[in-house]
Amino acid sequence: MDSLVSYIYIISGALFILSLKWMNSPVSARRGVFAGEAGMLLAIGGTLIGHHHNWEWILAAFFIGSAIGVPIAYIMPMTAVPQRTAMSHACGALAAALVGTAEFYQRQPRADSELSGFVMVALIIETLLGFLTVTGSLMAMGKLQEILPSRPMTYKNQNLINAVLFTIAILLGVRLIMVPTDTVLFPIFAGLSLVFGVLLLLPIGGADMPTVIALLNSYAGLSACAMGFVLNNHLLVIAGALDGSSGLILSIIMCKAMNRSFTNVLFGAFGQIQASVTRTEQRAYRSASAEEAAAVLEAASSVIIVPGYGLAVAQAQHKIRELFDSLMKRGIDVKFAIHPVAGRMPGHMNVLLAEADIPYDRLVEMDDINGEFPQCDVALVIGANDVTNPAARSDKTSPIYGMPILDVDRARTVMVIKRSMSPGFAGIDNDLYYMDKTLMLFGDAKAFVGEIVKELPARVGA
Ligand code: NAP
Repeated sequence: MDSLVSYIYIISGALFILSLKWMNSPVSARRGVFAGEAGMLLAIGGTLIGHHHNWEWILAAFFIGSAIGVPIAYIMPMTAVPQRTAMSHACGALAAALVGTAEFYQRQPRADSELSGFVMVALIIETLLGFLTVTGSLMAMGKLQEILPSRPMTYKNQNLINAVLFTIAILLGVRLIMVPTDTVLFPIFAGLSLVFGVLLLLPIGGADMPTVIALLNSYAGLSACAMGFVLNNHLLVIAGALDGSSGLILSIIMCKAMNRSFTNVLFGAFGQIQASVTRTEQRAYRSASAEEAAAVLEAASSVIIVPGYGLAVAQAQHKIRELFDSLMKRGIDVKFAIHPVAGRMPGHMNVLLAEADIPYDRLVEMDDINGEFPQCDVALVIGANDVTNPAARSDKTSPIYGMPILDVDRARTVMVIKRSMSPGFAGIDNDLYYMDKTLMLFGDAKAFVGEIVKELPARVGA
């Protein structure tokens, strides 16, 4: 039986690795998701046949978990995916931390303790990361959902206090590793880890939450990996390591795309002091109707569509697909420019556009498309703002200075669909809107694109 379980675990581990590989490209992403699901099903099946269990407990946990998980999958909208992700990390980390706690007490350290030094090290890492990820993820969720104030909360000597607290937790952990029989220390150690999760997140603003969630994902993975060593389960070690490293890689990619460092995200209290030079003078801009926009598009031979968070809010992807079809039918070359942090999570735009079956080869990454803007007739910005803001290139005082952007302002004509002149995520004005070649198209993205689509056929031969 044991060797059967080992084979199942090997296949399942391989499926997890293939899953990550396939998720690298939109073409194979669906296959990647299925591979991951199949791997997890095998992993659970293998664990169930490999050990003796109290089935009542397993079934109870299965039904409680499903009763919470399934409705969440249906109720939470796409725009709330970061919150949902934070919540699932909190649940995963809680499971790892509780398993660690149970193991600690069950193998009740005695003088002839079964908890060898190595297992204790893994157990302490598992519970430390597990507990701090639970409260950290709940804080991240609260800030994103605006149940908690999303601005950074700072106080004097904050980093120092956090560092001292964390050091005490580590010292308690080291003491427990050396003398596992000191069981009274364990609840204090666990409590400090929980408090540290809260304190770590306090100074981080809502704007940085998606990056921090990717980092917490990594912690939850490492905690599960340590749990694998505690339980001597190789598959958990593999899956945890994959989760831990992919979360870390993702947060590094996000930091790069925003031109921020890790330390700046974690300790920078970004978004707190908006040195907003409130402009007193009203600046002039031009706006246009759907009919005029359709005329501009029709006269173009190349169009680059730049989607952003507003596309997700308006759920405009299917209307955009209609616009894409209509323009392509007229022989106009249409591409989509994808900024790595457009929207509120990595891959946000890819997922939405894929949902509307827009061909993958039409989606072009930032570095590859930026050279094309100067030759492009129309850049059509749909619900994107910060990722097109030229201040990132030139204005040293801007909070987004240095963030790589899509060079939309270099296109011959720029049209921007959004509801008002309000700023985007970073809370700053966008000079793009006041350029002579820019037309503002005010309205909800879905409704406005729909109107343009309606105007287009009417113009055939006009
Ligand atoms: P953005 O800067 O947040 O701007 C979105 C714009 O969409 C807003 O200005 C809003 O203007 C418009 N909008 C909202 N609802 C709309 C609707 N129903 N119809 C039409 N327009 C609508 O978005 P972005 O350009 O995609 O930039 C993403 C921002 O998020 C960046 O600052 C990035 O650093 C940050 N961020 C992203 C990630 C990630 O992983 N993707 C992670 C962390 C942070 P109106 O209110 O006038 O309509």
